[in-house]
Amino acid sequence: MRKFGSVSELVNTLKPEHPVYCIRPNSIKKSVEFFKNNFPGKVLYAVKTNPNEKVIKIIINNGIKNFDVASINEVKLIRKIDSKVKIYFMHTIKSRESIKEAYFNYNVRDFALDTKEELSKILESTKNAKDLNLYVRVAISNEHAEIDLSRKFGALSSEALGLLRLSKEHGRKVGLSFHVGSQCMDKISFSKGIEEVGNIIRKTKIVPDVINIGGGFPSIYPDLTPEPLENYLNEIKKGLNKLKLEKTPEIFCEPGRAIVAEAGSTIVKILLKKKQKLYINDGTYGSLFDAGVPNFVLPSKMITSGRVVSKKLTAFNFYGPTCDSLDYMKGPFFLPNNIREGDYIELGQLGAYGTTFRTKFNGFYSDDIYQVNDKPILSMYDRDKKVDYLVA
Ligand SMILES: *Cc1c(COP(=O)(O)O)cnc(C)c1O
Repeated sequence: MRKFGSVSELVNTLKPEHPVYCIRPNSIKKSVEFFKNNFPGKVLYAVKTNPNEKVIKIIINNGIKNFDVASINEVKLIRKIDSKVKIYFMHTIKSRESIKEAYFNYNVRDFALDTKEELSKILESTKNAKDLNLYVRVAISNEHAEIDLSRKFGALSSEALGLLRLSKEHGRKVGLSFHVGSQCMDKISFSKGIEEVGNIIRKTKIVPDVINIGGGFPSIYPDLTPEPLENYLNEIKKGLNKLKLEKTPEIFCEPGRAIVAEAGSTIVKILLKKKQKLYINDGTYGSLFDAGVPNFVLPSKMITSGRVVSKKLTAFNFYGPTCDSLDYMKGPFFLPNNIREGDYIELGQLGAYGTTFRTKFNGFYSDDIYQVNDKPILSMYDRDKKVDYLVA
C-alpha cells in the first residue's frame, strides 16, 4: 500500500479523479493501546467495522488477537490473515452451513445466540459438540445510541433465564452478552446493561464464565462530542464491582468504531457547486452511507493547493454521484465559502463503516486505498489538541 506523509501531500501528488480512502496506522495503534491498557478484560475487534486486510494486520500487530465475526466469510478472512488468532462467531442468527463450516473447518468454538431455536441449530450443526462456548445475548435499552440494535437482536430478560440454563447444560463455557447500540453517547448504558446481567445471574444462580459488554464505544463527530473513553471504562468497572460476585467472570468487549473510525478518511472531489449544494464523487452508495439517512455529520476539511481560501464558512449539503435522490448527505458540512468545482475535501471518521459499505451502483466504485501519517481531523485519543480542522 502506497504511503504519504499527509492527506494534502497525497492530494497534491496524485490529484485523484476518483474518491480515495486513507488509513492511518498511527491512529489504530493509539486506539488499540488505549483498550489494551485500560479495558479490564479481553478486547475483541468487531471485524465488520472495517475488514480491510491491512487494517486487520495493523490491529493484530498492535496486540489484539481476538476477533468478533458475523459471517463465514469474515471467519475465512481472519483465518487467511492469521492462523492463530481467536475467532468468536457473535452473530445471533447464522445459517446451519456456516456454523458447521466454522466449527469443523476453522476451529471456531465460540457462538452467540438469543433463541432456543438458534441453540438447537448450533448443537445440531456441530453434531452435539461438547467443547462449545455459548454466549446468550440479552436485549437492553439502546436509548443513548445513534444506531439502535435492540429491536433486531437480544433475548428479553425473561427468556434469557431459560436460555442461560439450557446453554449451561450444553456448553463447556457460557457467557452473557449485550450491545448498547453503536455510537453510544451515554456511559450509563453500559452500567445498566451490566445491572441487567446481574439480575439474570441472581435469578438463575448461574455465574457465567464470561460477561461480554459488546461494542458501542463512541468516536467523536462535529455534533457528537462524547465524554472521554476513560469515563466509560470507569463506569464499566464500577458496574462490575457492584455485582459483588464471588468468582469474577472473564470480561470481553467488542469495539469496532472506537478502534478504527478516526484512522480512516475519504477524499472526494467536487464535480459541481449549485449554491449550497456540493455534488461530489462519492456518496451513500460508496463510503458515505452513514452520512445519508443515518445523518452522521462528518468532520470536513478543504484541501488546497495554495489558492487563497476564504475564512468565511458556509454550511453545505452533499450530493453523491449516482442517479438516486437518496444519494444525499444533509450534513451540515462547514467549508470555506469560495470552495468550487475541482476542489478536494477530506471527510474524517470514516475508518469505521465507510469503505466496507461500498457498492458498484451506477458504475461508481473506487478501491484506491493509501496509508497516511498525519493526525486525524478529530480524535478521541488526543482530545486536548485544538486543530483548525477546516482547511489544510
Ligand atoms: C457491530 C457490532 C459490534 C461493534 O460495534 P461498534 O458500535 O462499532 O463498537 C460489536 N459487537 C456486535 C455483536 C456487533 O454487532
